[in-house]
Amino acid sequence: MTPAWAQLGYLAAAVCFIVALKALSSPKTARRGNLIGAAGAVLACVITFLVSDINHLLPIVAAIAAGTAIGVLGAYRVQMTQMPQLVALFNGVGGGAAAIVAIIELADLGAGPAPIFDLIATAFTIVVGSVSFAGSVVTFLKLQELMTTRPIVFGGYPIVYGLGLLAAVAFSVGLVLAPSLLFALLLAAIGAGLGVLLVLPVGGADVPIVISLLNAFTGLTVAASGYLLENILLLVAGTLVGSAGTLLTRLMANAMGRSVINILFGALKGGSTLGATTVSDRPVKSAGPADVAILLAYAQRVIIVPGYGLAVAQAQHTLRQLVDLLTERGAHVDYAIHPVAGRMPGHMNVLLAEAQVPYEQLKEMDEIDPEFKQADVALVVGANDVVNPAAETTPGAPIYGMPILHANQARQVVFMKRSMRPGFAGIENELLYEPTTTLLFGDAKDTMSKLLAELKALTV
Ligand code: NDP
Repeated sequence: MTPAWAQLGYLAAAVCFIVALKALSSPKTARRGNLIGAAGAVLACVITFLVSDINHLLPIVAAIAAGTAIGVLGAYRVQMTQMPQLVALFNGVGGGAAAIVAIIELADLGAGPAPIFDLIATAFTIVVGSVSFAGSVVTFLKLQELMTTRPIVFGGYPIVYGLGLLAAVAFSVGLVLAPSLLFALLLAAIGAGLGVLLVLPVGGADVPIVISLLNAFTGLTVAASGYLLENILLLVAGTLVGSAGTLLTRLMANAMGRSVINILFGALKGGSTLGATTVSDRPVKSAGPADVAILLAYAQRVIIVPGYGLAVAQAQHTLRQLVDLLTERGAHVDYAIHPVAGRMPGHMNVLLAEAQVPYEQLKEMDEIDPEFKQADVALVVGANDVVNPAAETTPGAPIYGMPILHANQARQVVFMKRSMRPGFAGIENELLYEPTTTLLFGDAKDTMSKLLAELKALTV
């Protein structure tokens, strides 16, 4: 029986997690939220050590020390653009750990007649935890481009997947009726196979959504292992992760105008969820930083559309200086934030917050979109898919149905990108060929610095 003081401590940790989730929903409070969540986790670990009879203290402490060192090093070294991969890995090991705990717990349950709900929770944790682990490993490999980012489907996929699901149900029933290590290991292997099969057909641009879904799976497995271990805190934390992951998956899918089923299995219908990456050689209008500086110098209303390329180039600080200068010169400048710009939810908010851009200049899509009609210049910095009119004009395009920012309605559009290569969805952007569009080619940080220098020269 857990002592009352420890139960209270667990309650405090659970409150920390809830407060952390709330704080994470705004860039202003996200940092504090993260710290509060981490403090809750530390508190929970300390209490667990104090109240449990621990047999293998040395290996446990060694494992925690190694895990902490790897986690800290990984988090310090990772580039912001690689954050989804890091989340995928952390999530995967969470699911895998829950599955291993369930397998070990089975040995205890097997000693006497086990309650049926415990056995059901064990089977669930092993299967779903293994799906989450193996699926997360494949998402990591895809995002890190260690394997193709294109959807992988093969003849008979639905049959293999269906048989896998049937086998998972059959062995789960077997485990509940006759608990044995063999059934548990078979279930883990089937779960891992299902996890791999779940992620293979998903195209690169959709992988972050699957990470969020797998995150929800991990949450559910942790909640189930909380039930097994009779640990209320694990139950609460797992449920929070499960529901937050589910909500995030739905929000991201809605922002892309797609259903979760279409994201997961769209490639099976024959069409790829990633478009062709061929680039046409039609003429485009390009200009140098001096010309674009003049265009901006005369603009009264400028809307910046930041995208993934801004994060790759790390040009956010220079961009802020440019916006500050334009504002000093009397222009009205806002940033148009598309919900799926970049590669993870809130990517642009975090990136621009890093450069201390005032929050009031960051305008959500619904608020800013009607204003493009009044804008003299839409400056698109490393964005592509989020302004691609194909989302409205080309049925069958991978982004068809995704709400876009109507940068094409501005009097002039300037794209800052390195080449004519498409965005992550892999499809051409007709806006690049419009007569009102000018391309300023080059790495965004480099061209932004030149643009800033030219604008300064015009200002003095
Ligand atoms: P895109 O991937 O559509 O385009 C990025 C652009 O940046 C490219 O045109 C690329 O062109 C350019 N670029 C890359 N590196 C640099 C650089 N160093 N300097 C200048 N330009 C550069 O990005 P968006 O932000 O417009 O769209 C995000 C995409 O990611 C959407 O398809 C969205 O659906 C998807 N996605 C987003 C998620 C999220 O949560 N944010 C989750 C899942 C998917 P070039 O190579 O020529 O330089």
